[in-house]
Amino acid sequence: MKHDSSYDVVIIGGGPAGCSSASILAERGRRVLVLEREKFPRYHVGESMLPFTYEPLRRLGLIDRMRQSAFIKKYSVQFVSPNGRASQPFYFFNRYDRETVAQTWQVLRSEFDEMLMENARAKGATVIEEIFVKELLRENGRVVGVRAQGKDGVVVEFRAPMTLDCTGKEAFAAVRQGWRVKDPFLNKVAVWTYYKGSKRAEGVDEGQTTVAFVPDKGWFWHIPMHDDRVSVGVVADGKYLSRDGVKTPAKIFQREVEQNLWIQDCLSTGEQVGDFYITSEYSFHARHCASEGLLLVGDAFAFLDPVFSSGLMLALKSGVMAADAVDEALAARDFSPARFASYAASLRVGIENMRKLVYAFYQPDFSFKDVVDRYPDAAADITDCLSGDVDKDFTALWQKFREFVPLPDDLPLGEPLTVAAASS
Ligand SMILES: Cc1cc2nc3c(=O)[nH]c(=O)nc-3n(C[C@H](O)[C@H](O)[C@H](O)COP(=O)(O)OP(=O)(O)OC[C@H]3O[C@@H](n4cnc5c(N)ncnc54)[C@H](O)[C@@H]3O)c2cc1C
Repeated sequence: MKHDSSYDVVIIGGGPAGCSSASILAERGRRVLVLEREKFPRYHVGESMLPFTYEPLRRLGLIDRMRQSAFIKKYSVQFVSPNGRASQPFYFFNRYDRETVAQTWQVLRSEFDEMLMENARAKGATVIEEIFVKELLRENGRVVGVRAQGKDGVVVEFRAPMTLDCTGKEAFAAVRQGWRVKDPFLNKVAVWTYYKGSKRAEGVDEGQTTVAFVPDKGWFWHIPMHDDRVSVGVVADGKYLSRDGVKTPAKIFQREVEQNLWIQDCLSTGEQVGDFYITSEYSFHARHCASEGLLLVGDAFAFLDPVFSSGLMLALKSGVMAADAVDEALAARDFSPARFASYAASLRVGIENMRKLVYAFYQPDFSFKDVVDRYPDAAADITDCLSGDVDKDFTALWQKFREFVPLPDDLPLGEPLTVAAASS
């Protein structure tokens, strides 16, 4: 077995969370190693961005590249009822600065994630692809690196004072340590695929995300991308989607298309391309964000239902925040979990705000319009939370929501596992 101890930080997973942490740390002169099991460009779902992804992209130095890219610009979101009636599009530029957050992007993840990986390499990180991390290495209760296997079968141990788990919703460390807690309220199933040549709006609305409802609080996403491609998928309760005993993703998808006239019409001129995908019961939170020498980032820390497209924003933002916290830990030569308490606390605030919005959305009789009709001043806060400005204090907004629907309390999760708690 080979050994390598020449790094300050080992990062498991080269997705948005991993590569954003790697870029910032490498830029600061830290010796960073990213271990990614796939060969990029690789497929990944999750194509629609939120306006407030702007700040982490700016920190990564990628705004100009995004502006010059082929990614379609997203200026708005609309909602469509099952009978095909579309709401007025909600345009971000009606509330935000046109030069920054008022416009975001719909990204083909294979290209976007490759750009993030190139950025990490350009800033000095070492990235090894096609290497599978199998185990966390521990010494005296602290994580001291990982054991990984390359595609040639050779097993290598990489040691560093800090290891970041950025493995996405497979949540490498949380699963192995029994830290994965399913969200008690959000257990949905998603079925999706891609179309080419289907109908889409033009001009400023071309890159608009559409949320199109089907019965029982289910919904379609419709995300137009470049190259005439559309990402389209349905999310609903498992019981609803598997009614009539239909089980194959393609059949579920095709049956649900008929439940929304707008989706049916858009797809009528298009051709389905590639596979059908399915995933289930996917909202979860990690009991702890860190233990001695280990930090969880992006989906590996928490994964939320995708209805409001918060995943990429949270992954990039947590990647940047984690890098800042790890850089300080390296400067202080102090890798105790307590160091990461404020990282976890501020990330949890954002996740809990988004989670309340998602939870309200799935309540049978809830509508944002009812809240705004009673409290017109709530519109601004709802817009901010939906756009990803999730660090604000929304206490007053949730009080208003609670007059319409019950909302879950914050989950008491995410604190670092301190040495005292680990040994008790
Ligand atoms: C159905 C669905 C729809 C979604 N839609 C949206 C959307 O519209 N907008 C949005 O913002 N988000 C969306 N998301 C969420 C989004 O995909 C994620 O939040 C985002 O990809 C998280 O980034 P990450 O870097 O944390 O994880 P990932 O992007 O999953 O990256 C993790 C990386 O780690 C690698 N890896 C895993 N295990 C190992 C290992 N053991 N060794 C080495 N490498 C490993 C993987 O190969 C992968 O490249 C959606 C998710 C789902 C399931």
